[in-house]
Amino acid sequence: MMSKPGTTPHLRINPLACHAHGVCIEALPEMIGSDPWGYPVLWENPVPGHLLAHARRAVASCPTLALQLVDSDTNPRQ
Ligand code: SF4
Repeated sequence: MMSKPGTTPHLRINPLACHAHGVCIEALPEMIGSDPWGYPVLWENPVPGHLLAHARRAVASCPTLALQLVDSDTNPRQ
């Protein structure tokens, strides 16, 4: 994903699609932790520039496409 000018990339997790595989937690421990049931918890957002490449790899590694990288002005209800 390329960010549009004036926007900042954010990670988003679709809880309905997430099956708690934990791949994203291993791929991006700087931003994603685990709750007691193994589901991912975001530590911080937006994605800092120095972690953007890691965030993209984490998104690509999610087997259920539950983890997404979106622009800050993206409204999921639109
Ligand atoms: S890799 Fe995808 S399915 Fe697995 S815990 Fe992370 S968001 Fe959920």
